[in-house]
Amino acid sequence: MRVLVTGGAGFIGSALVRYLVGEVGAEVLTFDKLTYAGNLASLRPIENAANHRFLRADICDRRAVASALADFQPDRIYHLAAESHVDRSIDGAADFIETNIVGTYTLLEAARDYWRGLDGERKAGFRFLHVSTDEVYGSLKESGLFTEKTAYDPSSPYSASKAASDHLVMAWHRTYGFPVLISNCSNNYGPFHFPEKLIPLTILNAVHGRELPVYGNGSNVRDWLYVEDHARALHLIASKGQLGEKYNVGGRNERRNIDVVQTICDILDRVSPTPEPHARLITFVTDRPGHDFRYAIDASRLESELGWKAQENFETGIEKTVLWYLGNEWWWRPLRDKVYAGERLGTAPQAV
Ligand code: NAD
Repeated sequence: MRVLVTGGAGFIGSALVRYLVGEVGAEVLTFDKLTYAGNLASLRPIENAANHRFLRADICDRRAVASALADFQPDRIYHLAAESHVDRSIDGAADFIETNIVGTYTLLEAARDYWRGLDGERKAGFRFLHVSTDEVYGSLKESGLFTEKTAYDPSSPYSASKAASDHLVMAWHRTYGFPVLISNCSNNYGPFHFPEKLIPLTILNAVHGRELPVYGNGSNVRDWLYVEDHARALHLIASKGQLGEKYNVGGRNERRNIDVVQTICDILDRVSPTPEPHARLITFVTDRPGHDFRYAIDASRLESELGWKAQENFETGIEKTVLWYLGNEWWWRPLRDKVYAGERLGTAPQAV
């Protein structure tokens, strides 16, 4: 099986590529622009694998996409390339519109063209998996879960751009019969996570004795999924899911942000103790504009129809993650020193 993975040098994309190359044994082409979030070091565990190759290219570049498809002849495309950080989308949405919407459209058109040229069996077996987020559904109150039928109601420029791309993908199925599937996943965490997001930022700031910023009063709730469980789910959805359908992916691990930060502090107090507890560094900062209160995923369709089950719960996954950051300074040190040092993002005032 030949799989083209867009965004394969990013956080989730690299976990998926490592899984496909190392465990599934697929032939993989990683197609990635290498923005600030793309990092070939995340593919180091498979750098000598004969069944992996890398192409630096932009999904907005129709010719580059068409030529990669013609050369590599994939049986599947797993589409993860995106601008992914909500705070950055608040500071400036242009790259999000360009990559997430225009780039997805460009990729869809090039892929449809390629698919139309395939012959019988290969055409029938072709799959395009669009990887999306639960943030397209907007915010939940204290109770309730997002299902595949929940209406889209995105709040941030990021989630609005992902919602737009989901609609394009589904339209390409309904209009052209293009063989797509969509996954909507909750917040991921784990190794190789760019240290601008809550969990890796908290771990590294704590290690460096710096403040641990918590937005608002820390009561916002996210449903956390270990990234390797997500990678397995994606391959399963593309392999066994029904065309033109959506699948929610989530870990049934809801946690308030403040509890996530406290848990990381507790683990560090145990495995890397300092004279005073790490929680002394917790600092409440101005809330994110338009901050969704709660996300929670009902993943029962994926579990009952396709037999997926998360292997990690939050306690096992967060322990592994903290230990991974402590043991892999080679990976994060250059990012902290040269790409992003941990400064606050996403404080642009809300429009009135
Ligand atoms: P990431 O920011 O870590 O990685 C994105 C990758 O896409 C990077 O390697 C980057 O270089 C590449 N890229 C960006 N623009 C590109 C372009 N124009 N052409 C080619 N490559 C480009 O993101 P992530 O956290 O790994 O997320 C991957 C996908 O999963 C995204 O589509 C995101 O919306 C979705 N998702 C993320 C989460 C999460 O918790 N991180 C949850 C659900 C869904």
